Amino acid sequence: MSKRVLHAEQEESVASLLKTLFLARGHDVDQTTEGATAVQKLIDSEYDLVVVGDQLTDIDGIGLIAKLRQINSQVPIVFVAKVWRDARVYRQLVKELRVTLIFHRPIKAGLFGAQLESIFDPQQAMILGELGPEEATLHTLQANYLRVLPERVFKLKEAIKQSQTNAGDSSQLVETIRLAHNLKGTASSCGFGILGESAGSLEKALSAIKEGGLAHYEAAWEEIDLICGLVTTNAHAIAENPASRVDKRAFSTIEAPGDQAHTLPPSQDGEEALPQDNFDTFGLSSAVRVLVVSREPMASFKRLPNETKHQAVQVICCQEKADALSIAQKLSLDAVLIDIDTAAPGPSLNLARELRSLPGYDNLPVAFLSTSKQQKYVEDSTHAGASLMLELPFAANILDDAIDYLVNARQGGRPRILILDDDLDFCDTVSTALGQEGMLVRAVNEPVDIMALLHEFHPDLVMLNISMPVVSGYDICRVIRQDSHYQDLPILFLTSQTGLETRLAAFEAGGDDYLPKPVARVELLTRVKVRLERARLLKERSNKDVLTGLLIRRAFMEELQEMEEESQRNGLIFTLALIDVDHFKKVNDTYGHVAGDQVLSQFGQLLRKRFRVEDVRGRWGGEEFVVAFRHIQNDTARGALERALEELRLLTFTGDHGENFGITFSAGLASYPEDGTKLETLIRTADHRLYLAKEMGRNRLVSAG
Ligand code: GH3
Ligand code: MG
Ligand code: MG
Repeated sequence: MSKRVLHAEQEESVASLLKTLFLARGHDVDQTTEGATAVQKLIDSEYDLVVVGDQLTDIDGIGLIAKLRQINSQVPIVFVAKVWRDARVYRQLVKELRVTLIFHRPIKAGLFGAQLESIFDPQQAMILGELGPEEATLHTLQANYLRVLPERVFKLKEAIKQSQTNAGDSSQLVETIRLAHNLKGTASSCGFGILGESAGSLEKALSAIKEGGLAHYEAAWEEIDLICGLVTTNAHAIAENPASRVDKRAFSTIEAPGDQAHTLPPSQDGEEALPQDNFDTFGLSSAVRVLVVSREPMASFKRLPNETKHQAVQVICCQEKADALSIAQKLSLDAVLIDIDTAAPGPSLNLARELRSLPGYDNLPVAFLSTSKQQKYVEDSTHAGASLMLELPFAANILDDAIDYLVNARQGGRPRILILDDDLDFCDTVSTALGQEGMLVRAVNEPVDIMALLHEFHPDLVMLNISMPVVSGYDICRVIRQDSHYQDLPILFLTSQTGLETRLAAFEAGGDDYLPKPVARVELLTRVKVRLERARLLKERSNKDVLTGLLIRRAFMEELQEMEEESQRNGLIFTLALIDVDHFKKVNDTYGHVAGDQVLSQFGQLLRKRFRVEDVRGRWGGEEFVVAFRHIQNDTARGALERALEELRLLTFTGDHGENFGITFSAGLASYPEDGTKLETLIRTADHRLYLAKEMGRNRLVSAG
């Protein structure tokens, strides 16, 4: 149906492009380059849509929108922006000025057209206008959760029974606490406050039992009965009328009609589509998984947060080295915190090294915990791979930051997925499904800080919902693609609109693939895995050296460039080391090329396993290697490197004819900023010092002073 559009835009090229576009779609359009005229027109006549450019002849676009809103609080407004604004402006546009859509230039006709129609679509308008997106989302969330709630509660009750029967088995109790904890989190976030509180009390009682207070079973049973009662009351209402809205009052009637939870209708299943099927909000499989190895009683880690600022964290505690190694082999860990005894640090340092030697863990982030200063061991710790040394006791927020730091510092490890979707329910469902496949998922509901998040979380794949309030997934995709870092990042679109126009627009915007909503679990997993695998292969092929598994020179330089920029921005330091195998030509000549290759390969392996995840290692060329130690000064880097070279010196290699031999190395170090603030200068200095090391007889490191 034909609509009336008011278009205020100073730039002629944009005005004429949009005019053509509106006319082609059968709409009437009134255009002006002046803010004052636009205001007058909106006073004089009725419009179905107002489109405002970034700048008018007499006022800027945002200023004009503020004026237009005073005249008409209802009309949908589209803001055509030249640049990506910061979070504050974005929020002002959305919250104060209630802009329906922000579209970023350059304008692509197909994309703009597709979004225009969704604004005119009355169904969409109802969701955004009448109910408000948050309310609509909460409503879906509640409805979905209620369907699975009886089953969840039944499972929890069974778990309590089991844990009481097998009183000696603490893992059963840990699982029960997890279930109660999940119930607390989900119920509260769905707006079911009383249920959430009860689950919280239950969690407390179960934790007290775990600490040895068996008497708390009574309290636990009281709470679970109460919870069953709450759920029964409400679930019956749902069963009678599946379409009925959630009666939140039911959760306020604290009447426990008895032990009937397991007789309730089970959750709806048998559907291929995800939403209800796998609904386990904040399912821990997609959470960050942190292992704490400590001889301290577990209770002292009670302070560990369940959620850092950004995402859920699952903490697994153990005391013994053997347990730590076996847990690491069973689960994919994202970080490890190890208690270290400063009087005898050996075992903890060894454990860190052993964990890093397990397959897939050569870049596992590690932190050491201790009650006293560990400055003395900073070189050993850096060599063993500890990124942080935390002093006990610590405040909860320090730990939050530490876990964030560790997890973000890692490159590789579990595949990381970033989902941007305003539908919380959907995010949770997808997070759970991907989490169960061993992926680390971070879901966000608004695009405000998307670029910062990409930089910090460095996802391997991004999923974007297309139709979100205000900024569409297309636009976000285009903004992401403008950054050269993210040109190869796989981006999948999610949408419930399946028309040809939408699909074409998805590719035009720079998306790699397209998934229709509701998405079948198997399709989601297959497409995500295929994309991840292809991207991984591509990255490996273009950035990694096959023989050593280290970055090739170009890729290393890119990382180093970033490190230098970061150091400049934040006044930080780093140290660069150039390492060269001594008399390597002789190794080749005497023991053969195959043996020579073996040396290089082993060298690469050791460099990968030692040092911290945030340090960058590369093959500089031939038998030369390079390591950049982030945030570390000369002395510490030198100490850590010396330990690694010592390990290498002790290795025995086998020549082509079975003869044994060893090798030595020389290295030159240069630090930012003492030795220079330009990469070129630093590399030249390190190279010169390497030359000096060779001159001085090889098998040594040379640094400043
Ligand atoms: P110096 O102690 O002065 O560094 O002596 P060097 O013999 O190590 O130095 P030189 O630069 O003269 O020789 C380096 C040798 O490394 C020459 C080259 O054949 C060998 N090389 C380079 N890349 C590879 C490789 O990938 N595999 C093997 N086996 N040898 C390599
Ligand atoms: Mg050389
Ligand atoms: Mg050499």
